[in-house]
Amino acid sequence: MTKTGPIPAALVSLDALERAGLADPADRSTLEAVAEEFRVRISPAMAAVGSAGVRAQFVPDVRELRVVPEELADPIGDGAHSPVAGLTHRYSDRAILHATQTCEVYCRFCFRRETVGETGHLAEAEFGRVLEYLRSTPAVREVIFTGGDPLVLSARRLASMLDRLEGLGTLEVLRFHTRVPVVAPEKVTEALVAVLDRALPVWLVIHTNHPDEITPGAAAALRRLSRAGVPLLSQTVLLKGVNADVDTLEALFRALIRNRVKPYYLHHPDLAKGTGHFRVTLEEGQAIVAALRGRLTGIAQPVYVLDIPGGHGKVPVGPGYLRRAQEHWIVTDPQGCDHVYRDL
Ligand SMILES: *Cc1c(COP(=O)(O)O)cnc(C)c1O
Ligand code: SF4
Repeated sequence: MTKTGPIPAALVSLDALERAGLADPADRSTLEAVAEEFRVRISPAMAAVGSAGVRAQFVPDVRELRVVPEELADPIGDGAHSPVAGLTHRYSDRAILHATQTCEVYCRFCFRRETVGETGHLAEAEFGRVLEYLRSTPAVREVIFTGGDPLVLSARRLASMLDRLEGLGTLEVLRFHTRVPVVAPEKVTEALVAVLDRALPVWLVIHTNHPDEITPGAAAALRRLSRAGVPLLSQTVLLKGVNADVDTLEALFRALIRNRVKPYYLHHPDLAKGTGHFRVTLEEGQAIVAALRGRLTGIAQPVYVLDIPGGHGKVPVGPGYLRRAQEHWIVTDPQGCDHVYRDL
């Protein structure tokens, strides 16, 4: 028999963080106030990555107690578009399913930080009402599993949910938004991959913010998924102190395409409570995105988007390359030079 070491536990208490050298005992009383407000959890894989860009995402920080009036409990207004518990239906052809509120890590900048970790998994009766709503709303062609993190659910539970969604006959695609392949790659088991490899296509959007997150374990998990034919996309939140510079994002997006993941969205940070220390301005974001345009392959360019506070939807907010000038257009090239373009 081969002997394997004990699987390290996730860090969920300030005691555990102090033992791991991730929290200063001198900050204890302030961090207790932070932890009371916003849950703490760092997965073993992320605790093992020592770099500053990874730590800043998961280790609680005293600055989280600074809340300004513009920061909202529901920054993207999901609450206003929920026809039944667990479902957010804001855009006609797609709806978001909150299959669980639990995650493998609790990110300090999360726009759902007020709700994650709270209510556990969606109950079977609630899922039944979701199915009923979808049956009577065939305009919804895509169900997007989010959370929390939907891949914390067991393969068996996911199979049961996906089978019934597929059985509706109204859907053309299923989508998951998840951090699991990166923050807890050991949970991407062959059983889970087999559940995602089905007739109705399942697309996976991986939330990842820093190149150091793409560990050999994460790369192996992504390979198991791509081998099963699961299309892989990524979403990244632009965060000061983590990735808000051209070099870090270039390294991240290059690591993603090397692992067969297409960068999909770069999110301008949301107005979540106590996240001011992560925030960059739209102007700073646009400058970074413009610099990436010139030096990074087109297949690694995500769309820079803002979720308009108040529930008004997501829109691209990248730099503009086109403006009107009387009878013609002025187009700006990646080097910043202007050119005339005329519609014929
Ligand atoms: C982001 C979001 C979606 C998905 O939008 P895509 O642009 O298709 O990725 C769907 N519903 C809600 C409520 C969202 O916030
Ligand atoms: S929902 Fe996503 S961003 Fe929020 S804490 Fe969970 S894993 Fe992090």
